[in-house]
Amino acid sequence: MPARPRARRTRGAAPPPVGALARIVAGRALLAGRLQPVEIGIDDDGTIVQIARSLRGEERFDFGDGILLPAATDLHVHLREPGGPGAADSFATGTVQAALGGVGLVADMPNTDPPVTTVDRLVAKRGRADRRLAVDLLLYALATPGANLERLAREAGAFKLYESPTTGVDEPPGPAELRGLLEGVASTGLALAVHAEDPALFRAPETATSLEAWDHARPVAAERSGVARLLPAPPSLRLHIAHVTDPEVARRLRGEGHSFEATPHHLLLNHAGASTTRKVNPPLREEPVRAELYHEFTEGRVPVLASDHAPHLLNDKERPFPKAPSGVPGLETMLPLWLEECRHGSLPLATLLAAACDRPARWLGVPMGRIAVGHRAHLVVVEFRERRTIRGRDLHGPAGWSPFEGRSAVFPRHVLHYGELVVEDGEYVGRPLGRVVRPEYAPGAGATDPTGAR
Ligand SMILES: [Zn+2]
Repeated sequence: MPARPRARRTRGAAPPPVGALARIVAGRALLAGRLQPVEIGIDDDGTIVQIARSLRGEERFDFGDGILLPAATDLHVHLREPGGPGAADSFATGTVQAALGGVGLVADMPNTDPPVTTVDRLVAKRGRADRRLAVDLLLYALATPGANLERLAREAGAFKLYESPTTGVDEPPGPAELRGLLEGVASTGLALAVHAEDPALFRAPETATSLEAWDHARPVAAERSGVARLLPAPPSLRLHIAHVTDPEVARRLRGEGHSFEATPHHLLLNHAGASTTRKVNPPLREEPVRAELYHEFTEGRVPVLASDHAPHLLNDKERPFPKAPSGVPGLETMLPLWLEECRHGSLPLATLLAAACDRPARWLGVPMGRIAVGHRAHLVVVEFRERRTIRGRDLHGPAGWSPFEGRSAVFPRHVLHYGELVVEDGEYVGRPLGRVVRPEYAPGAGATDPTGAR
């Protein structure tokens, strides 16, 4: 194999002229609908301040004909801090996986042990992140009937609501409480993500012993009902539905102008087999449903791609089906799996960038996700010639396995965070540059308009 060209890094010998940029990143980028050579100027704070054909600056990274993409935002991860369920990840290990997978911001879920229902717990959780983050982190607070939503909203990045039981939520809200929570979150101005499965329609899930039985026990009907209970949502609420598996639910949400996500596992895997490792909530669906959701996604009709990274150690996952915990790791492989779909022509790159980078960041109100002035210089360099086979043991989380074992993927070659090189030739070389972030602008209820209109 010929030696791969390395990123060429040069530093000016003389002191920089007044007004010079701190750093220039050169490569090719998708701008105005086509790939073209570009130079990106970055200031001392790691913000993109200039984009041109040619720039002068103090330090220069030249990636040649490498393709520069904005880093992704993953709206849905479980990094298991302060704990629960299990301890198969942490802020430190999770954000390194994010960096290696081209994700510049992860939004961490609040259904931990203990759950994030008070300001004290939120502040304590934020304290655990201090100097341990390879990329940026945003913290959800849990919207529960007893919580002081107004106070939580001053510290949290967004809210999460569960319609069915999960870690930290034994008693999900009933219909009247649900309405109150939607109104309550709407009045805070923060965004709300919902796990929408109506437990009234579950059918003895504790007796399931296969993925197909798990699908029947937590059926698509529960998802449809879970979404129906939320609608019509308060007009000012920035609503987002997590892990949609049903194309009909997707069409309904699109019609109502609400944001929603699909995960790589629901898009790429079906309910065949008895493997406990693929037990997830909501369940993997039968092949025709999966194929239709995949089609909706590749046609650009699913606004957001999110991993629902919920790792468990293999020992725990391999318990008998009823006892095996739900969830799969997926943060490090999310973007690489879909870059491979772009490489072989199943997915337009612009569709992927909208779903993985632009819309999720806009939904949160964080200025990143596009190569644009004012956005964070969280950048990914990709060489589409470089495919790799996913092997769980090569991934960087404590779980050490992947539901996508054996699939081809295009991992980022280099990654920059705030304009600094943190992944070089596929290796993590960074320092803990990640920050805990909160919304920086109020995008309004239509911000994630699934049509992509701004
Ligand atoms: Zn989740």
